[in-house]
Amino acid sequence: MPDLVPFEYLLINEEKDDDFSESSTMPTATCLCGACHIVIDSILGTGICHCMTCRKSTSSTFSLNAVTTKDAFHLISGSPKSYGIIGDNGIPSRIFFCGECSSLMWTEYSPRPDLRIVKAGTIDGDDALANEKLQPLVEQYTRRRAPWLCGAANAKQYEGQQDANSEDDKMADVMLQGKE
Ligand SMILES: [Zn+2]
Ligand SMILES: [Zn+2]
Repeated sequence: MPDLVPFEYLLINEEKDDDFSESSTMPTATCLCGACHIVIDSILGTGICHCMTCRKSTSSTFSLNAVTTKDAFHLISGSPKSYGIIGDNGIPSRIFFCGECSSLMWTEYSPRPDLRIVKAGTIDGDDALANEKLQPLVEQYTRRRAPWLCGAANAKQYEGQQDANSEDDKMADVMLQGKE
């Protein structure tokens, strides 16, 4: 299986930004049954992943991953369960899901224990996905994207996993973040 998405490239924008919504209410994320309740202070960025791990773990076509920091992530209630996986490069990750209804909630990527990769479908609000913080900056493993889906508008496209160390991708980061 391919590696889970580390989304290292989003970290260029690690400055705190609490402007998630016009009401400045902190976003919340809940599972299907409501037992697991998460409050998120801020979101660094969001990306789509079409890798097989995302497809299998979500039982769907792709993941929409919202990256936040451990410090900005607060599990308020619920008793999530987790299981570990190991990617092709041997790097382990852990996937967390509600122990009651089994909704997939977030992933922890072992090289970056300071991050929480929240499955954005858990974020509350009928219009949550309209928020600019949840609009994907990047889309990866597009070679595995369903042929009847189009790429996300304005999202940088990667056939495989984005490489945070390549010069091309560093430039992409700069363009994505609007920084010099
Ligand atoms: Zn639940
Ligand atoms: Zn993935």
